[in-house]
Amino acid sequence: MVEPLFQRLALIGIGLIGSSIARGAKALGLARRIVICDASPQALARAAELELGDDYESDPARAVAEADCVILCTPVGTLASIAAAIAPALRPGTILSDVGSTKQSVMRDVAPLVPEGVAFVPGHPIAGTEFSGPDAGMADLFQGRWCLLTPQATTDEAAVRKIEALWQSLGARTARMDAPHHDRVLAIVSHLPHLLAFTICGTADDLADETKKEVLEFAASGFRDFTRIAASDPVMWRDIFLNNKEALLEMLARFSEDAQAMARAVRWGDTGYIEDKINRSRKIRRSLIDLKQA
Ligand code: NAP
Repeated sequence: MVEPLFQRLALIGIGLIGSSIARGAKALGLARRIVICDASPQALARAAELELGDDYESDPARAVAEADCVILCTPVGTLASIAAAIAPALRPGTILSDVGSTKQSVMRDVAPLVPEGVAFVPGHPIAGTEFSGPDAGMADLFQGRWCLLTPQATTDEAAVRKIEALWQSLGARTARMDAPHHDRVLAIVSHLPHLLAFTICGTADDLADETKKEVLEFAASGFRDFTRIAASDPVMWRDIFLNNKEALLEMLARFSEDAQAMARAVRWGDTGYIEDKINRSRKIRRSLIDLKQA
């Protein structure tokens, strides 16, 4: 146990990420009290059953009223309305953070609503699974993973350090970057792969019934891995795509050009091109394993 970082930590949204923070914070004593808020009565009731927090509240403004740290853990499309609802109830000195997967949209939707005296430290843990809801969380979800923070240069340094300390206590490594850079990087490492996974599963689903049955029966590891990614929450991913539109479409255009080049190499039997691409991909996989991010 360590000295609590916060007196009252409010988590808005108790799905995979919120409940993982709650589990870790509770196990490590990172907050004296944890208040949990969720729009879903079922999720809130389940969080209470699992004893993820100390207090349970359906109204976000009441949930944050006494908190010294508030973390928004809902899909990015909900953050503007939640920020509007909680803004009048936030006390000066409170630190407001989030875990949203897109950061320019969070700066656009939340930052203008943050009251004077409240520090806003946007964050994004690069950790997750395809599962959702309070049961999906794990205390060690962030162990060895990155959490990227995108505070503005004017944000109170002590507040940024406290959010860094929270994530580091949960086992994550932290890095700071600006929101546009974050969104470009995540477009290629996460958002485009999800778009491809949803698309390839859709393509398989569109095939004739007989072929589809075979696709499922003989699914080799390649397709299986895509289906795991494609099992992710539709609302969360809809919101991510729509809130990182420019970067995602730019990466998709570059990918399409590269896919066309690969198609040409296959058509003309350009073995050198094909082998080079595969070798470069294997190197990336090996680097990930070396960095313990595989
Ligand atoms: P999740 O498991 O689907 O949980 C989200 C929870 O928020 C649900 O209980 C949902 O209730 C609730 N909610 C939705 N709208 C709300 C509102 N207006 N007020 C209060 N509660 C509301 O989602 P998650 O995977 O934890 O993702 C949460 C955030 O983390 C997202 O912004 C996502 O981009 C980010 N993130 C996710 C991952 C990942 O791999 N999953 C990784 C890093 C970051 P309902 O079920 O009733 O909608």
